[in-house]
Amino acid sequence: MSDITRQMLRDYLHDALPETELAAVERALRGSAELQKQLGEIREEEDRGEHTAGAIWRRERVSCPSREQLGGYLLGSIDEGLEHYVRFHLEMVGCPFCQANLDDLRKLQGG
Ligand SMILES: [Zn+2]
Repeated sequence: MSDITRQMLRDYLHDALPETELAAVERALRGSAELQKQLGEIREEEDRGEHTAGAIWRRERVSCPSREQLGGYLLGSIDEGLEHYVRFHLEMVGCPFCQANLDDLRKLQGG
């Protein structure tokens, strides 16, 4: 059961959600393969002729940050440019692999 709408997912891709909704969408995405699929579909829709995060990501083949970089991101110990890149990768691209990795690291760090 989910009250996450397509519009919310779209806003999520554009980084246009208020913080409370952002948190709700992220939580829902983590727990729902169906939502992740929807997000992928929306991203593809928007890729047609648009310069969205997902389109840029695929075009540039922006690669995943390393586990060390993700760990540094959690600790706030990486430089600003890298932090921005990791945040973009996680929040705009919504890379499920890195999100899972980050969850795992978060558990290891006890927080
Ligand atoms: Zn990734």
